[in-house]
Amino acid sequence: MTYVIAQPCVDLKDRACVDECPVDCIYEGQRKMYINPDECVDCGACEPVCPVEAIFFEDDVPNEWADFRRADREFFTELGSPGGASNIGPVDSDHAVVAELPVSATP
Ligand code: SF4
Ligand code: SF4
Repeated sequence: MTYVIAQPCVDLKDRACVDECPVDCIYEGQRKMYINPDECVDCGACEPVCPVEAIFFEDDVPNEWADFRRADREFFTELGSPGGASNIGPVDSDHAVVAELPVSATP
């Protein structure tokens, strides 16, 4: 199991969650943050600090955002487990689920 970041983070990325994560497993994409499912230790520290309630335990992701479970997992298909987001910095891409979303006028 893992935690997942859903649609409200898209084009916001204020990074409040990053400061809470004890294992630095929240990676920055172009439009959204992504939790590495193989590095997350399920501590739950990130969930309450998100100002837009974008973070959910994997089993609790609302149906309307179900695709984001796949997005967070598949984002790391190529990246693998870099062992910490600060090791690689921002990634200049997004999963298709995120990339295909229209850009909000008021992020
Ligand atoms: S649940 Fe804990 S380990 Fe997983 S992303 Fe959130 S803060 Fe990091
Ligand atoms: S705290 Fe929420 S909105 Fe901010 S970067 Fe993390 S998931 Fe995205």
